[in-house]
Amino acid sequence: MLSGTGSDAGPTGADWAAAVDAVRQVPADGRVLLICHVNPDGDALGSMLGFGLGLRRLGVRRLQATFPGPPEVPEPFHGLPGLDLLVPATEAYPDPDLVVCFDAASASRLGDLVDRLDTAGTALVLDHHASNTRFGGIHLVDPAAAATSVVVEGLLDRLGVPLDAGIAECLYVALTTDTGSFRFEATTPAVHEMAARLLATGIRPGDISRRVFDHRPFGAVRLFGEVLGRARLEPPAAGGRGLVWTYATLDDLARHGQRPYVLEALIDSVRCTAEADVSCVVKQVAAEEWAVSLRSKGAVDVSRVAVALGGGGHRFAAGFTGRGTADEVVERIRGQLDDAVIGGGDQQEQRRVSVFPR
Ligand code: AMP
Ligand code: MN
Ligand code: MN
Repeated sequence: MLSGTGSDAGPTGADWAAAVDAVRQVPADGRVLLICHVNPDGDALGSMLGFGLGLRRLGVRRLQATFPGPPEVPEPFHGLPGLDLLVPATEAYPDPDLVVCFDAASASRLGDLVDRLDTAGTALVLDHHASNTRFGGIHLVDPAAAATSVVVEGLLDRLGVPLDAGIAECLYVALTTDTGSFRFEATTPAVHEMAARLLATGIRPGDISRRVFDHRPFGAVRLFGEVLGRARLEPPAAGGRGLVWTYATLDDLARHGQRPYVLEALIDSVRCTAEADVSCVVKQVAAEEWAVSLRSKGAVDVSRVAVALGGGGHRFAAGFTGRGTADEVVERIRGQLDDAVIGGGDQQEQRRVSVFPR
């Protein structure tokens, strides 16, 4: 394993039993706080709300779900069942009986809510990042899982909670987000089997996917055009595997009247670039602060780059917070890419092979 401190093995029988006990031991009037990572994506929100709906079915009444930072749910997730569980971070139980964390590889991803790991009676962590630091008390961390929602389904099953349409929709949004709608490497037979169980509850995949992935304001379409128009291709980067990158500023967002989360989908357009293995979008968060998304097609372990620069993620999808100017942030990425190339092999040679015999 190239990065992180965790092991690649999934939860043991003892881990599952400890997690089940932690939930069952919550007193009848006990408070449960669910927390997902900052800037929540579909896996973070879907896993958290799906589990919350499951706890509700178990009869847990004092139940909150939250995430650090501004209490703003990105528009693509406005249709998720269980949104009524959400409270702003400032209103979250200060000392819950049980805290459950979702899709966060490290405690830093919990932002200002990190203190709940100490103030809660028990801290349970559900995640699938190989780089998970094993923060918290009980760990259900499965690096082989395509999404945190796979772990959530496993725990709900062991708690005896059947899937209903509400839970299933949340877990489906999570699963499709992290597998790129069943396109990425992690899309195993088990992933499709889980999708089949979720769809069997009667949820409508076409409606859900349109809302979550294929729906954005015209201003965002124009903004994407502008930001894609300034993309740069650097064929020599990453030992010749190539880098493509672009950036978006707060001013870009303001000119097009858009919220920052609309930029989350931008990496999917950038990473299509045939001439580059590595793609990158640098998104301004504050004057000298940038949220960086990195993707690889398989030749580079971008989690290595992200971890070296203070972030984390998966081998082929990772991120970090960059400081300074966008150019300085990209320069730091360039400096890490050569060390993150996986294996040997000269991909330049492979790329020159034509589909026609010469
Ligand atoms: P994103 O590019 O934001 O979709 O993130 C891709 C992956 O990188 C996800 O698995 C995130 O959990 C991880 N990631 C993104 N930003 C950070 C960060 N600042 N620190 C740690 N991990 C991150
Ligand atoms: Mn996530
Ligand atoms: Mn995830």
